[in-house]
Amino acid sequence: MIEQLDELYREVILDHFKSSAHKGALPNAPIHAEGSNPLCGDELGFDIALANGQIGQVRFHGKGCAISQAAASMLAAQLEGKTLPQARRIIETMQGLMQGRKLDPSVDLGDLEALSGVRKFPVRVKCAALSWNIVEQGLQSYKGQKQEAGS
Ligand code: ZN
Repeated sequence: MIEQLDELYREVILDHFKSSAHKGALPNAPIHAEGSNPLCGDELGFDIALANGQIGQVRFHGKGCAISQAAASMLAAQLEGKTLPQARRIIETMQGLMQGRKLDPSVDLGDLEALSGVRKFPVRVKCAALSWNIVEQGLQSYKGQKQEAGS
C-alpha cells in the first residue's frame, strides 16, 4: 500500500518507520495508554511526560505495520512541547482528516500531514488512527484522574 502513496509522503513515512528517536518507555510518566488494531496486528503503547503544564518527552513501544509505527513516531514528535489543549487539537484534526474533513491551517501537524494520503485506503486508516486514538484515551483518563483528585 505504501507504494501507492505519493513519493513525498512515502519518504516521510518510511523515515519515521525506521527512526528510533521516540521509541522506548518512560516508566515515571503520568500518562500511559495502549491499544491494538486486531485487523492488522498493530500494537502500540504510549508514555507521555508532562513538564510545566506542557507535554515533555513522548515515547512509544509496540509492533506492527509501517503505517502504524510511522504514525506513532510522527505523533510522538509532534506532541512534544505542546500544551494538552494543543495536543487535543492535533488529535481532533487528524481524526477529521481521516474522515475527509478540510484541514484547519492553524493547526501545525508537522510530519503527520504525510498521513493524509492514507485516507484513500480505508483498511489502513485504522493503522494510522491507532496512535491518536490511544493518546486521546490517555489524555482523557489523565484528565479524569486529575478531576477525581480535585485539582
Ligand atoms: Zn497496520
